[in-house]
Amino acid sequence: MIQDIYPHAYHNEYHDLQPQENDFILIFHKNKALVRYNGEKLRYPTFNELKGFECAYHYLFSIDEYKYFLAYPSEQLLKNTDQGTPSILLSGYRYEDVRIFRSAPSKHNAFAGITAHHLFSWYQSNQFCGCCGQRMVPDHNERMLYCPSCHNMVYPKISPAVIVGVLNGNKILMSKYAGRPYTNYALIAGFTEIGECAEQTVAREVMEEVGIKVKNIRYYKSQPWAFSGSLLMGFFCDLDGSDKITLDTSELAEAGWFSREEIPLEDDHISLTREMIMQFKRGNV
Ligand SMILES: [Zn+2]
Repeated sequence: MIQDIYPHAYHNEYHDLQPQENDFILIFHKNKALVRYNGEKLRYPTFNELKGFECAYHYLFSIDEYKYFLAYPSEQLLKNTDQGTPSILLSGYRYEDVRIFRSAPSKHNAFAGITAHHLFSWYQSNQFCGCCGQRMVPDHNERMLYCPSCHNMVYPKISPAVIVGVLNGNKILMSKYAGRPYTNYALIAGFTEIGECAEQTVAREVMEEVGIKVKNIRYYKSQPWAFSGSLLMGFFCDLDGSDKITLDTSELAEAGWFSREEIPLEDDHISLTREMIMQFKRGNV
């Protein structure tokens, strides 16, 4: 899966650090990242290469001994740039859509990129206090933003969601999303609502999207999925009662029961959804 970067190791313990010469710097403009990418190698600018720009930095995490930082252009730099265009341009680097991180072959670097973008979105949307409107200040002991005026504390936002493999004997339920760029078969999925546990999310989402009941809900694995700011939790479960599908057409374009032999997909080594489908196809569940 996307987070499986062995033999590299991801270290996300919080440290209050400033960047040094060869540390990697992540710079985002909306949904684009400043990278050097030729379809094979993926590289980020180093602190050295950014010396001409006035920026503020947040330490993000390390992979092995390499440190990654988020750079924010200074207010002055932003003021001097046309709205809608990036304020930092570097020779040899281009702004690429963060979707490249889904398939870029330098997997640990791609994981760094998309994880950094998740943190960037959080810093970006919490510049001001949601209670009183004051500018938020980063804490020095943990990854938290606080309001010096009303003491509101904000921690990184991670939205839990479930992925569900519904089994019916030798068949699994697969579906296609309506109106999304991803057009391959997927499993039923949905965000956990306030006041419910993950198992209740599983039963509710399956009922809402395809109108069937499930039982024997069992946990499989989880996955950080920064593209939607979520922690995905995978569950398998069994059909309980009628297998008649009633499609929620606002969410799904189609859904149906597939035997192991009928599954037209191969492993992508990226998503939990795909791994779960492959586990079924190979007869492991
Ligand atoms: Zn406040």
